[in-house]
Amino acid sequence: MKSALFPLAACFAWLAPLGLPAADRPFYGDPPDQTHPWAIHDLNRPQPKLVTPGTFSSAEQPGRPPSDAIVLFDGTAEALNKWESDKPEGGPTKWIVKDGAMECVPKSGYIRTREQFGDCQLHVEWAAPTKVEGVSQQRGNSGIFLMGLCEVQVLDNYNNPSYADGSACSVYSVNPPLANALRPPGEFQVIDIVFRRPLYQDGKQIDPGYISVFCNGVLVQDHTPLEGPTGHKARAVPGPFPEKGPLKLQDHGNPVRFRNIWYRPLPPRAAEGGTVGILSPAATEATRRETAAALRADAAKLADKPVAQMLRLAESLVYAPDAAAASSVEQMAATYLAGLKATPEAELEAKKEDAKTVLQAFQYLVKFKFLPETFAPKAELDAFVKSRGWDKAK
Ligand code: MG
Repeated sequence: MKSALFPLAACFAWLAPLGLPAADRPFYGDPPDQTHPWAIHDLNRPQPKLVTPGTFSSAEQPGRPPSDAIVLFDGTAEALNKWESDKPEGGPTKWIVKDGAMECVPKSGYIRTREQFGDCQLHVEWAAPTKVEGVSQQRGNSGIFLMGLCEVQVLDNYNNPSYADGSACSVYSVNPPLANALRPPGEFQVIDIVFRRPLYQDGKQIDPGYISVFCNGVLVQDHTPLEGPTGHKARAVPGPFPEKGPLKLQDHGNPVRFRNIWYRPLPPRAAEGGTVGILSPAATEATRRETAAALRADAAKLADKPVAQMLRLAESLVYAPDAAAASSVEQMAATYLAGLKATPEAELEAKKEDAKTVLQAFQYLVKFKFLPETFAPKAELDAFVKSRGWDKAK
């Protein structure tokens, strides 16, 4: 969250008396705490971004990527320009585009994307050669190298066993896949990967990094911890990764074909300043302060709606204490109660929903200790509501 409140909250917070369900009002779920800047069901919490979904791929036909995907290969010859030879000097690759697929030309070398990226959701489709040649690692071998460092194995394992930690969809040399869910050679395999690189702080590992993989919709790597860059014969050695790297595809001497390659960058984890997961106490406090400040700024604009203004200011206390705001709430509450008590009997019914909403807010604030147990307006309003039987009314 930046400086302004999420617009939905601005609309909702003050619609409470208009009959919204309780869950769509403030003062509802458990409040923020030391590592969670948001209340449960918090209306101020930013909404998920909108993504228009694509379509699923089949063996016959590639699907359409989701709206926010960055496409690395779409089947066109021009898309090959997004790739280069993985030789140190780069340069054009000799891999070819044929029938909507990019095909490895044996002995031409690995290829890599010009684009560099780190944590991602990656979608790749590959097909082993229809002509079955070789056994074990010699048959339909290629590889998907995340950041150029971690290989998710590409291999024609259909009726072709090999060592388990080098099977198709293994994290090569580290972890075999949970299943062999391959289609026959010649058919496209649909691979979806979630990749999180290792995180280090002051030379210390704070997150090993993880890979999850689906092969043709079947889970084959379940949040597998990384053990460092993958290699042949050698055990991986954990260590820091750069922030970004190219995606690489392997030339292992087989004309493996690829199509429909895209990725979606993933947001940073809490440990690197993002909001995914439980936050640090410092990050939590900073976000709570921002929310409180935005609520107080919003309250300042509600001078013509005194009840809304009081509730908005009271809501800010849930995120960060502030003596001046608390004192204003107390004064506003006193004014509100005086007005309520002075209301002619005939006009009282129209104030019922407001009164119940305000009482519920005060009860919440006292229950969670944002206002003291001695907060007089709560007891007074409670007595008033009960005396009218409003607490029993629907
Ligand atoms: Mg390989």
